[in-house]
Amino acid sequence: MKKHNFYAGPSILPEFTKEKTAEAALNFAGTGLSVMEVSHRSKEFVAVMDEAQALVKELLKVPDGYAVLFLQGGASTQFLMAPYNLMDKKAAYLNTGAWSKKAIKEAHFFGEVVEVASSADTVYNYIPKGYTVPSDVSYFHYTSNNTIYGTQIPTPNVDVPLVADMSSDIFSRPLDVSKYDLIYAGAQKNLGPSGATLVIVKEEALGKIDRPIPTMLDYRTHINAGSMFNTPATLPVFACLQTLRWLKENGGVEAMEKKNIEKAKVLYDEIDRNKLFKCTVDAVEDHSLMNVTFVMTPEFAEFEKEFLEYATSKGMLGIKGHRSVGGFRASIYNAMPVESIQALVDTMREFENLK
Ligand SMILES: *Cc1c(COP(=O)(O)O)cnc(C)c1O
Repeated sequence: MKKHNFYAGPSILPEFTKEKTAEAALNFAGTGLSVMEVSHRSKEFVAVMDEAQALVKELLKVPDGYAVLFLQGGASTQFLMAPYNLMDKKAAYLNTGAWSKKAIKEAHFFGEVVEVASSADTVYNYIPKGYTVPSDVSYFHYTSNNTIYGTQIPTPNVDVPLVADMSSDIFSRPLDVSKYDLIYAGAQKNLGPSGATLVIVKEEALGKIDRPIPTMLDYRTHINAGSMFNTPATLPVFACLQTLRWLKENGGVEAMEKKNIEKAKVLYDEIDRNKLFKCTVDAVEDHSLMNVTFVMTPEFAEFEKEFLEYATSKGMLGIKGHRSVGGFRASIYNAMPVESIQALVDTMREFENLK
């Protein structure tokens, strides 16, 4: 039976990425050695790092003056590296979910945190609007896509530099990088395996604060060393490069956005139509195109477990919702084909017919 991968992360990758990485696991760039066994300073691996950085710049039209890094420690380490390097006395944060909350917790180690708005009151099922960002903050931090709660945010229109956690929607749509001092993303949602973290940082924004920064946590260390200060996660970076090549081959982020809008519509329309299900996010403009969260309607609440088992038996993997939301979550990242979404929709219809 065909398996359809709806896991939130680690999650679905293009076949191209998996095939090329599998080949390189045995024979990397004609070396006769695995990509896991060659020096990160070899000319073959340096070429991988260089091309990956160049493709990130090309795909996102990154302006001059920004550095692209592949670090380790996940987005979770960026929660503290961001304020360590960029926060003078004060920074503003938007609280739209568990990941925002974790970022806010780390920022408190470095100064005053202004939480401009929060949707914690209703389990983060909407994006707060109409908030004010103070003008005397070092930056405004937000989570562009809330992986757990199924909400997504367009680039906010504020007068201070932006810092964003884009772990679960990077490369899913075009972006004006010039509005940001820092963008970061754990690779394992839309780019590659876990182990690599993509960082795009404005070089001019660094070196402006007085606090001493430990070497490994200072972005300048990694910029000066071409993202090779210490051993990078060589196999994950190799896999990320394959996804970047696949993105370019398939029309880049503009084409991805178009496809993602079409794909998500298939599932949101069915949730709307089907009497068994309802979306956890009411405002259509807040709907994530990457993670679709839904629950059983109150009349059919008792069938939640049964639907999960039914869907699993039909090859739908990873659709159990996060424990804080319950219900279901279908993660439909860039690599997810519309056929898999259609298969989930068919399963929802079949189950409705059984009730
Ligand atoms: C998964 C996720 C994280 C955590 O990433 P790690 O790489 O595990 O630290 C942070 N933010 C968002 C939005 C995520 O989806």
